[in-house]
Amino acid sequence: MRATTAFDKRRLIVGAAGLLLVLYLLPAADEAVPVTRYHLAMDTLVKIDLFVDEAGSERFFELAITEIDRIDSLMSHYSPHSEVSEVNERAAQAPVAIAVDLSRVLERSIFFSRRTQGAFDVTLGALTDLWNFPEARVVPAKSAIDSALAVSGYQHLHLEDGRIHFAVDGLRLDLSASAKGYAVDRAIEILEAAGVPAGVIEAGGDLRYWGSKPDGRPWRFGVQNPRFDDLPGADRFIPVADIGLAAVATSGDYERFFEFEGKRYHHVLDPRSGFPAGRSISATVWAERAMDADILATAAFVMGPEAGLELVKSLPNTEILLFYENEGQLRRRASPAIRRLLTPSESAGASAGN
Ligand code: ADP
Ligand code: MG
Repeated sequence: MRATTAFDKRRLIVGAAGLLLVLYLLPAADEAVPVTRYHLAMDTLVKIDLFVDEAGSERFFELAITEIDRIDSLMSHYSPHSEVSEVNERAAQAPVAIAVDLSRVLERSIFFSRRTQGAFDVTLGALTDLWNFPEARVVPAKSAIDSALAVSGYQHLHLEDGRIHFAVDGLRLDLSASAKGYAVDRAIEILEAAGVPAGVIEAGGDLRYWGSKPDGRPWRFGVQNPRFDDLPGADRFIPVADIGLAAVATSGDYERFFEFEGKRYHHVLDPRSGFPAGRSISATVWAERAMDADILATAAFVMGPEAGLELVKSLPNTEILLFYENEGQLRRRASPAIRRLLTPSESAGASAGN
């Protein structure tokens, strides 16, 4: 029985890896090989690669997994006992004191909610509950969407002296577009402090590395071609060399979606309409920290090729590769540092934008 359970778990992990990992560290034959551990958390698959000796590595994996689970249990809005759920229950009545982790994620989320004029909005919980991804199979009624939007909006959120208050009753925080990145950042902080010299943590489309590989080779990444299934001969991953920014995150319309009457409905929502954002197919953002990359990938996805590129350009140490559709064609736009790395052959089937 035990063997069957282990086998099923492995199959689950391999299946989830195929489904969810949009970013991928491309292996080369003669490269230094990390010790790897998979862990299911934050509603996705987390992959931890450590460049340490296998003997003694268990302790490091445990440190990382414990921290990721801790952040997950604070910030999950699925769990009624998480700190976020408690805030959602009480913060409309009176200011609620929040602990340091939630405070850090909210500060950054509010900063980018303002900076994107709400294209990224950390207060969309009522709307995301209504759509209910990943279980979603039906389009909610327009009236229900409007009611959810009426109680959403970062302007109604007040964070002061470690206390959070909602100016609107029914407002609900949803940290799904930032907490995963924060968990990756925290786990890396702990591993670095514990003396792990180098590694990569990847959590459902959010990735960050630290240190240098022991063989001195550069880090390399693969950004998923968002429509490789539909493009005969297209490669699944577009190789992108390291640009010195350690965090890379992707938001895509192919991660969690359902189809209804021939239309694709996915989980990244445009706060202006309450419907899935339609300007992009995928947005990959490079930044120094995984939380910023996570937030900005979601933001740029919602904003689309023009405004998304402008946003990234206005921020230091941030780069982007965004796919969108124009007249039935898959197109891409990239910020200069990424554009220099891409050649036409590396986007087989995708036409290059500017
Ligand atoms: P993923 O979680 O699949 O990696 P994202 O980081 O883009 O993708 O986060 C998407 C999640 O964030 C959604 O499932 C939803 O809970 C929430 N969300 C959806 N639209 C927005 C938005 N415009 N701003 C902030 N959060 C959003
Ligand atoms: Mg995100």
